Amino acid sequence: MNIHEYQGKEILRRYGVQTPRGQACFSVEDAVRVAQELGGKVWVVKAQIHAGGRGKGGGVKVVKSLEDVREQASQILGMTLITHQTGPEGRLVKRLLVEEGADIAKELYVGMVVDRATQRITLMASSEGGMEIEEVAANSPEKIHKIAIDPGAGLTSLDAATVARAIGIPEGSVAEAVRFMQGLYTAFTECDASLAEINPLIITGDGRVLALDAKLNFDSNALFRHPDIVAMRDLDEEDPAEIEASKFDLSYISLNGNIGCLVNGAGLAMATMDTIKLFGAEPANFLDVGGGATAQKVTEAFKLMLKNPAVKGILVNIFGGIMRCDTIAEGVIAAVREVNLSVPLVVRMKGTNEDLGKELLKKSGLPIISADNMADAARAIVTAVSSH
Ligand code: GDP
Ligand code: MN
Repeated sequence: MNIHEYQGKEILRRYGVQTPRGQACFSVEDAVRVAQELGGKVWVVKAQIHAGGRGKGGGVKVVKSLEDVREQASQILGMTLITHQTGPEGRLVKRLLVEEGADIAKELYVGMVVDRATQRITLMASSEGGMEIEEVAANSPEKIHKIAIDPGAGLTSLDAATVARAIGIPEGSVAEAVRFMQGLYTAFTECDASLAEINPLIITGDGRVLALDAKLNFDSNALFRHPDIVAMRDLDEEDPAEIEASKFDLSYISLNGNIGCLVNGAGLAMATMDTIKLFGAEPANFLDVGGGATAQKVTEAFKLMLKNPAVKGILVNIFGGIMRCDTIAEGVIAAVREVNLSVPLVVRMKGTNEDLGKELLKKSGLPIISADNMADAARAIVTAVSSH
């Protein structure tokens, strides 16, 4: 689960990670009032969307008068912000963060991520802050310093100080940088984060260490123990199809292709997508209906896939283990009737009551193409879609 920058900063402050003072705003009036209350002479108006690259896209503006706060807030609120992370359709800005301007002497990068290879949280840091870290990693990997944190010891002061010096933090700010990184690590572990990225972390003119940006992702499987983080969820930032899917306990991820897939089991769903690609087409989604799919769940799954106008065909690939193939067949038939299916449908079923299931499909009189194995099924749907 993702949250906004201002929410991430709110969490980080609880762990002693310093940030500029600021507040979220939902209207232009709000923005002006917040700037006034913050005082000072320089403010930053920042679009709050769940995507990075806002600065380059025109979603972060440094301003020097309350008039300009008003001007920029009205520009940014309601704009469709396009960044390299939003895709070409962009994202509608509904929230702002208004902060006091910071006196930036240096922009650095600090991130943490759960590394599967070492099974540890890895601290990554670089002197090249404010840029896309992917580019730094590609062009000058020697500028990224990494350490795998021992979960027993935590992030030691010694390790944190070594990293701080490696990325060029001036000696007078090293102690503060150590506290910063340790605070970030505690926040990461206590909140069950999967990723934390501070880009940029800045050193101010007077040597303070501040998080100027904050991106936090959380492990969805741990959210049950963080109701305060769940409360930060912003459904406007999530894919409506994925929200709908979660209501019916379906695991659904939108993809860019045109073949909808309905599968039981995540592994089989992955294999199905691979097979579709092998035969030259692209899946429109990942959809795992789970082990205990009912006819209603299958119908909802069909509706969900068909909401995507790009879907030009559907492949159902079911292994009947605990779930019997005849139950699935009934579900498919009910769904096809209810949604008035107008795109080609290929069904491949294997396992318990397979023959019964196939018989039901045949007797339904619906134009359902049956296939016996995955290759046949993929070939059939790819052919049907390209000639439809
Ligand atoms: P992102 O582009 O979505 O990653 O948004 P950031 O929060 O990282 O902001 C982009 C850039 O705006 C930063 O790298 C800074 O250079 C600049 N910026 C953000 N806040 C301030 C500020 O308070 N003062 C100044 N001078 N620049 C800022
Ligand atoms: Mn940033």
